[in-house]
Amino acid sequence: MQVQADKVVVFHYTVRDSEGAFSESSEGREPMLYLHGHNNIVPGLEAEMAGKEPGAKFTATVPPELAYGVADPNARVRVPIKHLVRPGKLEPGKMVTVNTQQGPRQARIAKVGHFNVDLDLNHPLAGRTLVFDIEIVDVRDATEEELEHGHAHAPGTEHE
Ligand code: ZN
Repeated sequence: MQVQADKVVVFHYTVRDSEGAFSESSEGREPMLYLHGHNNIVPGLEAEMAGKEPGAKFTATVPPELAYGVADPNARVRVPIKHLVRPGKLEPGKMVTVNTQQGPRQARIAKVGHFNVDLDLNHPLAGRTLVFDIEIVDVRDATEEELEHGHAHAPGTEHE
């Protein structure tokens, strides 16, 4: 079965950024799965997945605009340290959770002051070209529930 819209794709991956500053892998863990055609993975990778079959191994190089977007230098806010959730030791580059009017959100510290921190609201991988090594393990039909929810369900996970 080929990867196409409304199929669930089970795959192993290693991803690294072009600067070598980040890498992550499913090696030694359960494979990932996603529902194809529902924007559940970055668009550049989803496009490369299309038409592939179980057993396929390939490398996909995905530019920022097809991954987590181009970094916006204006996406910075200054917030009081007291608005951080369990801040711990504060230093640039660290991810923290900040309470906002829209609820808690994750952001990366750009600069630390005495009473405030400047947070970079860009996704941590914004502006990065990502290189994925993919191995497709399985491609299956989505269940009705998965189609209704718009995402894949891992075995043994149930939710409303
Ligand atoms: Zn669901």
